[in-house]
Amino acid sequence: MPIPIALLVDDSCPLIHVFRFHWEDVHHRDPMTKDGRRLLDHIPNSFLNDFCEICDRWGFAGKFSIVPAPADRGDVVRGISGFPPEETNQWLDTVLRRLSPRFDFTPEGITHNLAVDLVTGKMLPIGENEWSQTQTRETLTPYLVRQLELLKAAGVDANGFTSPWVFGIKVEPEYIAAMVEAQRQVCRRESSWYFLHMRWEEPHTKPWVAHKDQRGRLVSIPATIPDLWWETIDEPNVEPTDIAERLRDCTTKVVKAGGTPVVLTHWQSLFSNGLAAGLKALDEYGKLIAEDGRFQWVKCSELANATPDL
Ligand SMILES: [Zn+2]
Repeated sequence: MPIPIALLVDDSCPLIHVFRFHWEDVHHRDPMTKDGRRLLDHIPNSFLNDFCEICDRWGFAGKFSIVPAPADRGDVVRGISGFPPEETNQWLDTVLRRLSPRFDFTPEGITHNLAVDLVTGKMLPIGENEWSQTQTRETLTPYLVRQLELLKAAGVDANGFTSPWVFGIKVEPEYIAAMVEAQRQVCRRESSWYFLHMRWEEPHTKPWVAHKDQRGRLVSIPATIPDLWWETIDEPNVEPTDIAERLRDCTTKVVKAGGTPVVLTHWQSLFSNGLAAGLKALDEYGKLIAEDGRFQWVKCSELANATPDL
């Protein structure tokens, strides 16, 4: 039996480099790399094509986030501000055509930036992460419903949730109830999954059933392998093969500990502020995993379905 392994891609969205806009809007700092280069505002559609090429080459599968209204600069339905709507549509078309056979899609916040006042549509002066930590199911449900509705209107069926930063971690029982309800309301789906927890300090970790009732269940899919690609944002000289080898070692460690290898990466880590060294490292890592021969890349929903009830 091959060992199932999944790749989590966080922060992906059409055209916007969401990580860059965190700095000014949420952290009130200049958007710079640690070695003093300005973070780029946009990620061109050609980068998505390159990512798809590498996924095809090595059979990567897992989860691909789509931030529905990234940084509040347009959204997936109307298009991204400052670009013709066709560029957003092209991005979505490519994602659906090339990634849907092997990746589940999830929203990741509404903006992955400041929280939105759902009544006025205006931004609140607080990030989505901070906002979420004091909410209840009554306020979280419509917030998650909006995320799913935006993706649905753009033709994307999202069968799970990704938590921007650690959205909802301090009120997790409320967040869980809200995710179950939002999937029922928008997608009429009774069984779903979510990504919130990062557990590389506990490599024996496997997905677990976070909620179960007579209608269905919600499975928590934790990441067990950290985003080592992230280094390529700040260090232009880091060797892609070195990152790939360290990732392979983390993967082996999880398997030895009896955990489920779930690898976290971010759109900005692969983009490497335009240098795409992260993407090269992904290519190298795919090769190492293929050469190992023991693994099968799977969707998060497949991991969720295979997770036993307690
Ligand atoms: Zn994120």
